[in-house]
Amino acid sequence: AAADSGATTIFDKIISKEIPSSIVYEDDEVLAFRDISPQAPAHVLVIPKNRDGLTQLGKAEERHAEVLGRLLYAAKVVAEKEGIAEGFRVVINSGPSACQSVYHLHLHVLGGRQMNWPPG
Ligand code: 5GP
Repeated sequence: AAADSGATTIFDKIISKEIPSSIVYEDDEVLAFRDISPQAPAHVLVIPKNRDGLTQLGKAEERHAEVLGRLLYAAKVVAEKEGIAEGFRVVINSGPSACQSVYHLHLHVLGGRQMNWPPG
């Protein structure tokens, strides 16, 4: 799996709309768009528009606490918009051993099927 180089990622081009995406929710701080390789009938990524050093949750600092809260609340709004508010899963992969592949912090919002536990 890729490591965290600190380099900008493809998500910056999605934020700038240089690369098109299927946007589910957007405000000044947060963008939510459908994953290009969905792992469930509903699979949306929720990201901060300003990465501000948040390459991965494992490198979060206390100053990131407010945006982390906004991302989590946005996940709930996304679940409602996707019609999965009754049951959904939020995942953050942090680091290579968790299979993180894009080093711009993001929440996965997954639903629309039975989500099994424990995950692999
Ligand atoms: P990670 O493995 O880092 O937790 O998740 C990264 C996610 O970004 C993957 O699920 C992958 O399918 C998604 N992804 C990567 N590139 C693109 C892209 O260009 N557009 C969209 N919509 N999703 C992407």
